[in-house]
Amino acid sequence: MIYFNTDINMSLGEDIYAALRSGRFPHSVIIEGGSGSKRMSLSKGIAQALVCSSDESPCGVCPHCRKAAAGIHPDIELCEEDKKGNFTANTARDIVNSVSIIPNEADSKVYILTLTGEMSPVSQNILLKTLEEPPKYAFFIIACPSAADLLDTVISRSRVFSLGEQESEPDEEESSKALETACLIAKAIVADSEFDIVREASVFEKDKKLFADTLPVLDEIIVEAMKVKATGIRCERFGGTADTLGLRLTLARLEKLEKATRELKSGLENNRNYNLLITRLCTLFRANT
Ligand SMILES: [Zn+2]
Repeated sequence: MIYFNTDINMSLGEDIYAALRSGRFPHSVIIEGGSGSKRMSLSKGIAQALVCSSDESPCGVCPHCRKAAAGIHPDIELCEEDKKGNFTANTARDIVNSVSIIPNEADSKVYILTLTGEMSPVSQNILLKTLEEPPKYAFFIIACPSAADLLDTVISRSRVFSLGEQESEPDEEESSKALETACLIAKAIVADSEFDIVREASVFEKDKKLFADTLPVLDEIIVEAMKVKATGIRCERFGGTADTLGLRLTLARLEKLEKATRELKSGLENNRNYNLLITRLCTLFRANT
């Protein structure tokens, strides 16, 4: 199983996989909560799974998955708000008018509707009939801050997947520091000396926020490394660190690291002793174990 490229909790991930595997994925889903980028990333992951031609979707390797990952799949349509932040009636009409055109390449056609605020009742009402009786190949993913902002009639025709509380977009400078730190930690995992991890982890001693920001990125790197291991396809993100991990470590070790990252995240969320958590990170990630 390939995990989604986003920081979501396990039970939500399992719910989504169960729905995908059932072969009866809801034609209309609402992704709410979290940050805009998390909602987008999850929506794209689901769209990829829906166009994927493998039984184990998203497989990550079939032509559909590759095109979806590159953002060029002709059967995945991104429908966005205009510059003023309105999801216009024209955009809604375009969706209704194009939905009857059968998919180009895949067996499914996916519309991702991204909202940063509310959608006007007019636009929602235009979409309503299509959401109610979509062609069997059509799927709609409405990514929005809160499902409660949508009309009851839209909500009742959709399944809601919640990413939890709404979050603001991460600060750019903080994100790039977290990315850099996660890459250094990842490199230290495969370093020759076990002291590398202790050295790299020392930046966390006085910076709990950095620790909290770094763990999800580290988790993503490890998940990407698992994909590299499973598929042999190199990962272009993270400056080659996911590739290095994928090539040098066994799948069992990568799975342990992924579990370890989740353990640390939950330790942080549950306010465990902070210094012990850093020590735990060093123990779990130490080179050659
Ligand atoms: Zn696939």
